[in-house]
Amino acid sequence: MKGTFPVGRFTHLATPFYYYDLNLLQRTLEEIRHQLKELDWPAAQVHYAIKANHNPVLLNHIAASGFGADCVSGGEVQAALRAGFAPETIFYAGVGKADWEIDLALDAGIGRFNVESRAELEVLAERAAVKGKVAPVSLRVNPDVAAHTHKMITTGRAENKFGIHYSVLEEVIRRAQSLPGVEFIGLHYHIGSQILDLGDFKALCHRNNRIVKELQAHGIEIKDINVGGGLGIEYSHPNRFLMADFAGYFRTYSDELTTNLPIHFELGRSIVAPCGSLISRVLYVKDGLERHFAILDAGMNDLLRPALYHAQHRIENLSSEEELEPYDVVGPVCESSDVFGEQVMLNKCRRGDLVAIRSAGAYGESMASQYNCRPLAPAVFSSTE
Ligand SMILES: *Cc1c(COP(=O)(O)O)cnc(C)c1O
Repeated sequence: MKGTFPVGRFTHLATPFYYYDLNLLQRTLEEIRHQLKELDWPAAQVHYAIKANHNPVLLNHIAASGFGADCVSGGEVQAALRAGFAPETIFYAGVGKADWEIDLALDAGIGRFNVESRAELEVLAERAAVKGKVAPVSLRVNPDVAAHTHKMITTGRAENKFGIHYSVLEEVIRRAQSLPGVEFIGLHYHIGSQILDLGDFKALCHRNNRIVKELQAHGIEIKDINVGGGLGIEYSHPNRFLMADFAGYFRTYSDELTTNLPIHFELGRSIVAPCGSLISRVLYVKDGLERHFAILDAGMNDLLRPALYHAQHRIENLSSEEELEPYDVVGPVCESSDVFGEQVMLNKCRRGDLVAIRSAGAYGESMASQYNCRPLAPAVFSSTE
C-alpha cells in the first residue's frame, strides 16, 4: 500500500519539495494528549524539540495545541517565541550556549536553562546577576545509560560530550544553590534519538530513581524531572505504523519512575517525522553494469539522514503501478554518500515519475543545506479539512 498523497496536485508543482500532512500532525498531537490523560498524568508536560523541524507552519500548530518547546540554540528560542510558545514553556539545552544566546533567553524570560557544565553554570549566573534576574536551572545529567540506536545519535554515555556526570552532580548542585543568579530546580536527561527499545527508557528511569533518592537523602530538594526525548518511529512501515508508540512510551515512564515529581518530556522526531515526505522526480534512469540507478532531483542537501546516519527511509514511486524492480536511489549531489537507498524495490521508474521519500518530517528540512549551490526546497501542506 502506498501513502495517500494528492498526486494530482503534485503534478503541477516543481520538485523537490517537502510535503506535510497536517491532519496526521494534528492526530499525533491529540494522541499524545490522549495518552497522558489515560494515565491521569496532569503533571506531565511535553515540550516539542524544535531542532527536529522548525518550519513555522508546523510550529504554529504545535504551539496552538498547548505544547511547550525544547530549544538548543538562541535562534530556536526566537523561532519558538515567534510561533507563539509561551516563554515559561520554553526550555533551552545545549553544551555550547554563547553569551548572546544566554542573554536573549534571559530577556525572553524562558522557563528553564538546561545547564550542561559547571563552566556554563558560572557564566549563566553571572550574566543573569548583571541583569538583576534569576535564571531557572536544571542540570543535564549524563546518566551513563546506553541507548540501542545509531552511535552518532546516542548522547547518554559517559564518553559523550553531553551533560554532567552523575558522580560530580551533587557538587555542581551545591554550587548552583550558592549562586544568586540562578535557582536550581531539577534534573534533565536525554539519552539519544530514534530509540525503539523501551528498555532503554526503563534503564534511564532506574538510574534517575537512584540519583534522586541519593540527592534527597543528602537534603537536596528536586522540584521536577525532565527525561528528554528520543522515542523512535518505524521508518520501514510508515503506512502500518502511522504514529510512534506513545502509549508504551508514556506507560514505561509512569510505571518505572518512583518519584511523583512533575515530569517533562522533550519529543521531536516522534511528533513530526511521520507527517512529512520529501517529494521529488526521477531525472534519469541509468543502467549501470549490474544495477539500475534512479537518479532523483532531491539530494542529500534536502535530506541528510541517509548520508549522515545510514538511515533508511521508505521510498515509493507515486506515478507507476508497473512491476517492481530493484533500484539504487541516488541524488544529484557530487558525493558518493548521496544515496537514499540501495536495491530498493520500486514500481518501474521512468523519467518524470514522482517519488516520495517517507517519514522525512524530522531532521529533513531542518538539516537542509545549499551544498552544491542547490536552492532550499519549499514546503507544501495538505489542506486541513
Ligand atoms: C534532540 C533533542 C531532543 C529530541 O530528540 P528526539 O529524538 O527528536 O525526540 C530532546 N531533548 C534534547 C536535549 C535534544 O537535544
